[in-house]
Amino acid sequence: MKIGVLALQGAFIEHVKLLRRLGVDAVEVRLPKDLADLDGLIIPGGESTTIGKLAVKYGLIDPLHKFASENPTWGTCAGMIFLAKNLGQNKQPILGLMDIEVDRNAFGRQIDSFETDLDIAVLEDEAPYHAVFIRAPVVTHADANVTVLGTLADGRIIAVQQGHLLATAFHPELTDDPRFHQYFLNLVKAEKKTH
Ligand code: GLN
Repeated sequence: MKIGVLALQGAFIEHVKLLRRLGVDAVEVRLPKDLADLDGLIIPGGESTTIGKLAVKYGLIDPLHKFASENPTWGTCAGMIFLAKNLGQNKQPILGLMDIEVDRNAFGRQIDSFETDLDIAVLEDEAPYHAVFIRAPVVTHADANVTVLGTLADGRIIAVQQGHLLATAFHPELTDDPRFHQYFLNLVKAEKKTH
């Protein structure tokens, strides 16, 4: 199994390290050709406007759009923004593949970063999932075809899945808990079987 991590800007090295720890062949994606033989792709956290600009510059928007339309793709934080169809007033280059509306920097300046324990039912074992949020977005609307995987205690949506597409508002690569990566890898395995 070979997984790519979009490596234009942001926390891509941490994803690569975690994937390698799980025994996965993980590669950095910078050019369209890097997508050639991947089974799945992770779009990391960082700054979505910068990731978008660089994706335009390197001719990656269409290849990424095509790849993520057909293959398991997981966006974390800025990656969630990059996968969403609707950013409200914000206009910036995105892939626009998931039927969600996302509010960037939803937590404002006062609490722009925080950590909290989440209950994510699809993860293995019952233990709470400790999540790191950094200038994180939230999903303000999800269409009926989107499954909500996790919310904050106040009900705000921070993890969603739409078929082979996954998006989380937090940074699963910054903690030691590999269960979310494992969940994504299971999705990749399941897709590989059906193709
Ligand atoms: N606030 C960033 C954005 O709008 C996302 C932050 C992150 O990825 N940690 O792109």
